[in-house]
Amino acid sequence: MRLLPPSTDQVMKKRLLSLIKNIILDRDGVINEVVIRDSKVESPRCLSEYIIKEDFKRFHARIKGKDINLFVVSNQPDIARGKMHESELMEMNNLLLNSYSFKEIVYCIHDDIDSCDCRKPKPGMIDHLIKTYDLNRSEVIFIGDSWKDMEAGISAGIKTVFFTQEYNNPDEIKADYFVTSLLELIDLPIWE
Ligand SMILES: [Mg+2]
Ligand SMILES: [Zn+2]
Repeated sequence: MRLLPPSTDQVMKKRLLSLIKNIILDRDGVINEVVIRDSKVESPRCLSEYIIKEDFKRFHARIKGKDINLFVVSNQPDIARGKMHESELMEMNNLLLNSYSFKEIVYCIHDDIDSCDCRKPKPGMIDHLIKTYDLNRSEVIFIGDSWKDMEAGISAGIKTVFFTQEYNNPDEIKADYFVTSLLELIDLPIWE
């Protein structure tokens, strides 16, 4: 008698189950609410506009204590555009660091014209985290609500999750997974 080899599905599931140890989150729209100005989806520019999403609070409570590193990578071009002062960004940053268990929060404060390496869809901020913490790319997943997030994740060679919201459209998006709530991440086959 010979045992059949496990199906590709089983092998794949096993690999994923043992691999993901690090979650990188986009900030605006994922952790905190976006701000609508003149019918445009924009970022909060001061602490009073900075509202943490209930969905994120529930997600954080669920994964607290698990052996998972949480990181944030966020484009904040309003600094380069002179629409927000760096001190405002730091106030929001401190709120996040004081209330939640993020290992590191990275910002790109440039605009397209700066041609930096960090502004998503470039993978610079993700690469920075992978290098700094010596992460294995196969153990990292990135969740965001924009095509720029997904492009950055794909360029960095990590798994991507698109966060579908009422203001974005998943139709043309390339991503490994699609969710409408961070809590759905918990049901993906990425955990121990
Ligand atoms: Mg976003
Ligand atoms: Zn940058």
